[in-house]
Amino acid sequence: MKKQEKQNCIFCGRSTDEVKEFIESNYEGVGVCSDCAMGIHNYMEERIRTAKSKTVEQLQLKTPKQITDYLDQYVIGQQRAKKTLAVAVYNHYKRLNYYNGGKQQEDVELDKSNIIMIGQTGTGKTLLARTIAQLLNVPFAIADATVLTQAGYVGEDVETILTRLLQNADYNLEKAQMGIVFIDEIDKIARKGDNPSITRDVSGEGVQQALLKLLEGTVVNVPPEGGRKHPEQKFIQVDTRNILFIAAGAFDGIDRPIAQRLNQSAIGFTESLQRDRIDKEDLLQYAQPQDLKSFGLIPELIGRFPVLTALDNLDAKALKRILTEPKNAITKQYIKLFAMDGKHLTFDDGALDYFVEVAVKYSLGARGLRGIMEEVMTDLMYSVPDDKQQNEIVITRDYAEKKIDGKGIKSIKEE
Ligand code: ADP
Repeated sequence: MKKQEKQNCIFCGRSTDEVKEFIESNYEGVGVCSDCAMGIHNYMEERIRTAKSKTVEQLQLKTPKQITDYLDQYVIGQQRAKKTLAVAVYNHYKRLNYYNGGKQQEDVELDKSNIIMIGQTGTGKTLLARTIAQLLNVPFAIADATVLTQAGYVGEDVETILTRLLQNADYNLEKAQMGIVFIDEIDKIARKGDNPSITRDVSGEGVQQALLKLLEGTVVNVPPEGGRKHPEQKFIQVDTRNILFIAAGAFDGIDRPIAQRLNQSAIGFTESLQRDRIDKEDLLQYAQPQDLKSFGLIPELIGRFPVLTALDNLDAKALKRILTEPKNAITKQYIKLFAMDGKHLTFDDGALDYFVEVAVKYSLGARGLRGIMEEVMTDLMYSVPDDKQQNEIVITRDYAEKKIDGKGIKSIKEE
């Protein structure tokens, strides 16, 4: 067969001399240019990737006991919260697998068990939620309720929470729809009237209504890149029915409504009986959804969080355990970093006590421990890699005190 002088790409129509490379086919006059060939290659790769991701995965279910066992490796204390969370999470994913397995909603409809956690900042609320997502291998997204606004106002639209979840699921929609969303500072979105701040021009109620929509389980149009900077982006429709929402807040002063409720319910002949049983030192354990109303949360929203649990404040003993016990404890991380340079690092018990004392004295909590240790360790981390003599490093209380003295604390406090 005589080779044709000039051929055209069957896709773009350009001729052989208009393109860089040309791939001939077995058919006379038919071929593909290199640009189109590359385009087809990329297109097919994407098709195959998304087809793979579309297979609905059944989640590896973990029992409540397996969940708490795993949490114990990373989170110190908080046994009550761990147990409540484990049961709620187990039920949630059991329900999800059931419906994903093709079962229709039948006689008994299984409700979703969104969770709300009450506890001071830095007590492990985010850590618990994140660790559960890690164990179940589901995507996880964190949102700060205080920066959320109603659509149309300056701030983040509520839908962007789902953008983050999608991104963390590598845009695998099926996976994102089984993910966990953590909403922090839920106690700070009071509706107008309940909110003492007059500088906040956006009514918290609008945000609550928008959140409510997500929680109710609807299909939400989600901008894949988030924000309003990309008006041309196509929306992705995300079904929130099976997304687990975990909200958290400090709910400062919640002991008052709890105490009030307990007192009221104690009126009558069982009064003395009930009073005796109430542990006044730990009123949080009696917290119930209705106690959240005084924080300006609308009842419909509260109703969407049927599971409520309170976290304990961390005392010095717990803080010390946090330094050394979790699988990725801060001291373990430093030891590993030093070991990579062939150095053997140890911490004296006195030094550990000192870190905790500083954290307690300046009310830095567990979150502050890292900053304190960073202050103590930075000089060593700078000098040790070049120091061929020093292979044994012991952090003593004395050494730590010297590093923290004076301006050290100031910078830690500002973190
Ligand atoms: P919260 O969400 O309650 O404000 P976080 O979970 O973000 O607090 O905790 C901040 C950091 O403090 C965590 O990343 C972790 O290093 C540490 N931490 C807090 N509580 C605990 C705990 N109970 N066990 C282990 N580490 C903790």
